[in-house]
Amino acid sequence: MLTRISLVLPVYNEQAVLPLVLPRLAELVDQLPAPTEVIFVNDGSRDATRAILAEAARQYSWLRVVDFSRNFGQQLAITAGLDLAQGDAVVVMDADLQDPPEVVLQMVEQYQAGYDVVYAQRLERHGETWLKKLTATAFYRLMTTFVNRDLPENVSDFRLMSRPVIDALRHLREQHRFMRGLVTWLGFRQTAVQFVRPARAAGETKYSFIKLTALAWQAVVSFSNWPLRAALPVGGGLAALGVLTTMVAGVMWLNGAGSGLAIIAGLQLLLSGATLTAIGVLGDYLGRMYDEVRGRPLYVVRELINFRPEDVKSAERAVLPANSAAPATLRAVPRDEWRQAS
Ligand code: UDP
Ligand code: MG
Repeated sequence: MLTRISLVLPVYNEQAVLPLVLPRLAELVDQLPAPTEVIFVNDGSRDATRAILAEAARQYSWLRVVDFSRNFGQQLAITAGLDLAQGDAVVVMDADLQDPPEVVLQMVEQYQAGYDVVYAQRLERHGETWLKKLTATAFYRLMTTFVNRDLPENVSDFRLMSRPVIDALRHLREQHRFMRGLVTWLGFRQTAVQFVRPARAAGETKYSFIKLTALAWQAVVSFSNWPLRAALPVGGGLAALGVLTTMVAGVMWLNGAGSGLAIIAGLQLLLSGATLTAIGVLGDYLGRMYDEVRGRPLYVVRELINFRPEDVKSAERAVLPANSAAPATLRAVPRDEWRQAS
């Protein structure tokens, strides 16, 4: 069922593109098969972005604006948009026309075919430097290794999500968030639509090399404890090498061949290896605490069949479906106040 569609666009200093995007969105709103709201999240822009949006909101009744008090970053701007979106299907897209509005029509078709997540996968990149292409490739390699093996390549935050996915996503309230990783972590029925990504319509990218590196690091750290535990294998290896060196040097010394210096070097290696191992062990415990502190739900349920409400009260820290059409299924237990309202 599709009674309402929401589009969510984070914007940061986009005064140059807004006059180009707004008419394209107006066209899209007319073409979409259900009433549509467009939510712009102004992420603390320091240019005329806010003024342009406020002015446009008077002209377009479908336009809504969320105005942040400062720059919180694209990921949190998306989060705010998803919290406020009312649609059965919600599409997140960039405001610079690199995510072409027409693609949303294909996404909605896939949604109507029964998919919960439809991400847009770009076939090639136009108007981007070789450095940007190289860093993007490195970024995706890093992501599939450390974040989630299933994380699709050449995919940005441009995607459609169904209401059950949005409701589940809203249970993940961690501070440092990498939305793409979270959506993949959630599961549900996912599919892709392919498109050719055009160059930015106007203005400049808000992601410098440094900011992209920071995003990659944030993604790795919020999905993997690997950096914390890295000291463990390195330390273990060093310590083993130290034991070996000490033994060899000791035997040589006993035979009058080696020097005491080699033994000292071996012991030195052994001791720093042991220290590093201990740090790695600490890291492992810290990593587990990090997992607990993050407080993510333990699992996500898409549907419950033949359960009574009282049967699922004990499902703590789980994401249960908010509602189900079949009479045999039940409403989820609202855990947070924002769910109580719905
Ligand atoms: N953006 C944002 N907050 C930021 C940085 C970017 O809301 O701190 C928005 C930006 O306005 C755009 C989208 O996120 O709508 C993607 O940014 P951009 O196009 O600069 O990234 P790129 O496509 O170059 O990776
Ligand atoms: Mg862009």
